[in-house]
Amino acid sequence: EFIKRKKPDWLRAKLPGGKGYADTRTLVDKYKLNTVCESAMCPNMGECWARRTATMMILGDVCTRSCGFCHIKTGRPPVYDLDEPRRVGEAAALMNLKHIVITSVNRDELPDGGAEIWAEMIREIRRYSPETQIEVLIPDFCGDWDALQLVLDERPEILNHNLETVPRLYSVVRPQATYERSIELLKRAKVQGLTVKTGIMVGIGEEDHEVETLINDLVEGVRIKGIGTSNPQTDIAGHAQPPNPNRNFPEGASLERSISGIGAPEDHRDNITKRGASLIEHTNPYWNHSGPAPAPDMTQHIADISYPNATYPGVHETCDILTIGQYLQPTRNHLPISRWVKPEQFAAFKAYGEMQGVRHVESGPLVRSSYHADDQVLQLS
Ligand code: SF4
Ligand code: SF4
Repeated sequence: EFIKRKKPDWLRAKLPGGKGYADTRTLVDKYKLNTVCESAMCPNMGECWARRTATMMILGDVCTRSCGFCHIKTGRPPVYDLDEPRRVGEAAALMNLKHIVITSVNRDELPDGGAEIWAEMIREIRRYSPETQIEVLIPDFCGDWDALQLVLDERPEILNHNLETVPRLYSVVRPQATYERSIELLKRAKVQGLTVKTGIMVGIGEEDHEVETLINDLVEGVRIKGIGTSNPQTDIAGHAQPPNPNRNFPEGASLERSISGIGAPEDHRDNITKRGASLIEHTNPYWNHSGPAPAPDMTQHIADISYPNATYPGVHETCDILTIGQYLQPTRNHLPISRWVKPEQFAAFKAYGEMQGVRHVESGPLVRSSYHADDQVLQLS
């Protein structure tokens, strides 16, 4: 199908300009910061910079990977500049940022994938700008979960890792990544009680039903092979439990109520963290996706029977915020645009995601992971 190169009206964004834009420009230059806004040629730059928000890209501007949609240079990155965490921290303070989004290229050549530098970055932002809410958009650290833990231990306010697309397209869109690994990363963050976010692009070859399946995976997580496959017949402490009562939910169910907040002693939280994967199998009332969700009082009942002493991270086990935006081909050498997804379809994705249990779905043609990221968090409360 022929796709017109001219963008539809709904994708026209404002041109950069104004004092806020100029101030951000000055700071970015002065502190030698890399921004995704520029590297990705983001269409929202005019608006975001005018609001004094920008997405910083750390660990250099050369990536060891070669994703088919991404405009960032691929190659062997130069030696890392150890002063960067301090500069980012200072710039965050000077920009008086309420919310900062930090991301990085992949540094697969480093033993920990750059995780220690990520942790240092969070500490420096906290030191210089303690009021700033920190959102980290992290790489997968090649599935090195000890490296990931260095970042999780710093407890960023938002832990973001983009799935980017549906699994069928990974070999061309994210050839060095795997869908299962990324789902597992999100889940590991979630079971440790972090607010978790992910994002995808549409118009890069996926079909609508595949987006819905991805949303189901985000909510369920457990269907992914190798994750959360511990015995669902045991509780978080390993005690035998009756068969999972979350199956075969009654008709007329409501998705409204979560089973979080049941109250538990601290020591159970440790157990939850360690055995988070199996916990998810137990607590996710959407576990049996073929059946309707449980009625609210049924959910509470199930929780009380199964884990009388546990605190539950909630039903939204893998993802709190999902962003969905139109893919724009940065150059003719990048993957082609498969379709212009219409605003109505974006609205349908949002409705589906929130109905399935993602707490907030930001879905629209110009949505980017970091677009109005501060407002996305507000939507959670
Ligand atoms: Fe930068 Fe994100 Fe705004 Fe784009 S949406 S300009 S990347 S902050
Ligand atoms: Fe771009 Fe990230 Fe892929 Fe590197 S890993 S090519 S920065 S999308």
